[in-house]
Amino acid sequence: QKTIDNIAAGEVIERPASVVKELVENAVDAKANAVTVEIKDGGMTLIRVTDNGIGIPKDQVKTAFLRHATSKIRSVEDLLSVSSLGFRGEALSSISAVAQVELVTKTAESFSGVSYKIYGGEEEAFDDIGAPDGTTFLVKNLFYNTPARRKFLKSATTEAGYVEQMMVHIALSHPEISFKFIHNNKNKIYTSGNGKVKDIIYHIYGRDVAGALIPLEAQNEDVKVTGFVAKPYVSRGNRNYESYFINGRYIKSSIIYKAIEEGYRTFTMKHRYPFVCLDFKIDQELLDVNVHPTKMEIRFRNGREIYELVVDAVRAALLQKDL
Ligand code: ADP
Ligand code: MG
Repeated sequence: QKTIDNIAAGEVIERPASVVKELVENAVDAKANAVTVEIKDGGMTLIRVTDNGIGIPKDQVKTAFLRHATSKIRSVEDLLSVSSLGFRGEALSSISAVAQVELVTKTAESFSGVSYKIYGGEEEAFDDIGAPDGTTFLVKNLFYNTPARRKFLKSATTEAGYVEQMMVHIALSHPEISFKFIHNNKNKIYTSGNGKVKDIIYHIYGRDVAGALIPLEAQNEDVKVTGFVAKPYVSRGNRNYESYFINGRYIKSSIIYKAIEEGYRTFTMKHRYPFVCLDFKIDQELLDVNVHPTKMEIRFRNGREIYELVVDAVRAALLQKDL
C-alpha cells in the first residue's frame, strides 16, 4: 500500500506548488473566507496553510489521509464543476506519503481541536489541542523520503515563483476570499476578499495594469465569458499577464490563446502578449474532461465557437475605448 501511495503521490504532487494548490483548494472547499499560505525556501522545507473553514471532525481526521477518502462528490465529470475543487480524495494521502505533515483542526461544534502528525504516511501523534475554528496544515521537508523526486525540484526562488503564480490564479478566481501569501517572512500577496477582481489585479499587477482595464462580457447559448482585457500598451514578452478560468478553475487553452492574439492583432503592442483575465461559464458537456486531473490543459468540444466569441468580444472591447 505504501508503494502504491508513493506512485500515486508522484502524479499529484510534483513540487511545492502542487502541495499548496491541493491544500488551498481544500480550504476553499471548506468554505474558508480567509486563507494564509506561508512557505520557506520555496516550500521545500516548510509549507503552512491556515484557513478559517469548517474544520475536520475528530473522527474523520485519520480517514481524510486514506487514499480515495473524500467527503465530496467523486465523479470525473465533477472536475470542472462549480461546486467543489477537489474530488479525488488523493491529495492528503499523497502529500503525507512524501512529507512530514502536521495538522491542527477544529470544527465549530467541537469544544477542542485535534492535532495529528503523520510522517511519510506513518502516524506519529494524535492529540486533543486548543485551537481556533478552522484548519492548519504544516508540510515539512517535502520529498525527504524520496530523494530521487527531490532532485527534480528547481531553486528555492523558482519554486517560490511557481507557488506565487498559483496563488495569483486562486486569488483571481476567488475574489470573495482573502488570501495572504508569505515567502521567507516576506509578504508577497494580500487580497482583501471584498469580491472585486479589479482590486486584486491592482494589488498583484499594480496601478498601470489596473488603470488600463476594459471590462469584457459576451455570451452565446453555450458560453458566457466575463472579465477584463487591458489596453494594448500594457503588454509582456510572456504569458504571465494572461489568466483564464473555466467555471472558476484556472486552465490553459491553446484555442483561447489564439483567439486573444487574433483579437489584439490589429492593435499596436509593445510586446507580444496582452494582459487578460477571463472567466468562462460553460456546460461541462462541452468540455473534454478526458485530461489528466493535475494538468490544466483543456479542450472544448465547440472550439470554433469559443474562438469566434472571444475574438469578437476582445475586438469590441478594444474598439469602444480610446486606446
Ligand atoms: P478531496 O479534496 O479530493 O476530497 P483530499 O485528500 O484533498 O481529497 O482531502 C480529503 C478530505 O479531507 C476532504 O474531502 C475533506 O473532507 C477533508 N479536508 C481536507 N482539507 C480540509 C480543510 N482545510 N478543511 C476541512 N476539511 C478538509
Ligand atoms: Mg482536495
